[in-house]
Amino acid sequence: MTQAQKLQALVQALLATNPFYGAKLRTAGVDRPPASIAEFHARFPFTTKSELIEDQKQHPPFGSNLTFPVDEYSRFHQTSGTSGQPMRWLDTPESWDWVVACWTRVFQRAGVGRSDRVFFPFSFGPFLGFWGAFDAAARMGCLSIAGGGMRSAARLRTVLDNEVTAICCTPTYALHLAEIAADEKIDFARSKVKTIIVAGEPGGSIPSTRSHIEQAWRGARVMDHHGMTEIGPVTYECPRRCGVLHVMEESYIAEVIDRKTLEAVGPGGSGELVLTNLGRTGSPILRYRTGDIVQRALLGGCECGSAEMALDGGILGRADDMVVVRGVNLYPSAVEQVVRSAGGVNEFRVEIRQEKSLTDLSIFIEPANGEDGAALGHRVATLLQYAFGLRIEVSAAQAGTLPRFEAKSKRWVYL
Ligand SMILES: [Zn+2]
Repeated sequence: MTQAQKLQALVQALLATNPFYGAKLRTAGVDRPPASIAEFHARFPFTTKSELIEDQKQHPPFGSNLTFPVDEYSRFHQTSGTSGQPMRWLDTPESWDWVVACWTRVFQRAGVGRSDRVFFPFSFGPFLGFWGAFDAAARMGCLSIAGGGMRSAARLRTVLDNEVTAICCTPTYALHLAEIAADEKIDFARSKVKTIIVAGEPGGSIPSTRSHIEQAWRGARVMDHHGMTEIGPVTYECPRRCGVLHVMEESYIAEVIDRKTLEAVGPGGSGELVLTNLGRTGSPILRYRTGDIVQRALLGGCECGSAEMALDGGILGRADDMVVVRGVNLYPSAVEQVVRSAGGVNEFRVEIRQEKSLTDLSIFIEPANGEDGAALGHRVATLLQYAFGLRIEVSAAQAGTLPRFEAKSKRWVYL
């Protein structure tokens, strides 16, 4: 089926039995499926997160974006609620199969196959996390090992003792595991890990973070991925171009829009990623404003042979996380790239202070063993000034005092 045919079947089903989209589309004057993708873009309204949250408040506990009776649903997840109220998200077995199929493609494009042993050093909680990935790996025939409820040192031993070849975790946690290995003198020489699929934060597409992980893991290859609980697994990293994410367009309709004019942004431009998922019929989203800022690659066939939309630098950041300091727009991923490129930074934290109309930030870095904190701080400050033309205060923190994260990291702190 083409993208348009999948969309037409989806819209038909939503108009028939989905209370949320049935009402939303009719209010926007839409009472039949679109004849083409162009008509879809022209006539169908965007969906925002606040609308979904409001719908769940009005129709507790699961909201009304359910295409089928609630008894037909078998999986429950919820968002972490970092930016407010957590959202609950249900899947039918068929919708879940679609989530798993998306993850299967992520693995395939990362070169992970049935002979791999895949480990998930992650506490499997109610958010979508790596549940879909785990099911995909198991269904592909990979030996799949869950790492919930374990301390980091035990997870490292699991990796070594079971001859694990692929790991799925956040980029921060991949670095943290390497740090623990150094502290506990766990010898990485016998590690068989060749692929690390990272998700949950932008680190996989930040060149300096990525090269730190690859060095620490003895040359294992980092592959980036991103997804969202309410949408599903969205991108895979281009196997030929580091730091380029492809949107799985057989499963999604992707748009990039200008946040002010809401007009489509062409190849080479940057804006907010807007997504429609085409196979999660039980709890779908049409034209979802993800809040993620991306940069579209220039047109032209990709070296990997994919014609799917390519995003340079992966997810650059959340629109809400951008701060403007003395006229300069700063995204967390851009700051992380510079801080990590100094080398010798184990962990860091960015504190943002907003007084009247002035925004300022200061950075605390935790030096690796044997690094001189003051000299490293000076080096990071110089690099920041070179990159952004800003004088930013950088101070050294005591070893082990900054928080470490297994799930989404919270380094960007508003005071
Ligand atoms: Zn490619």
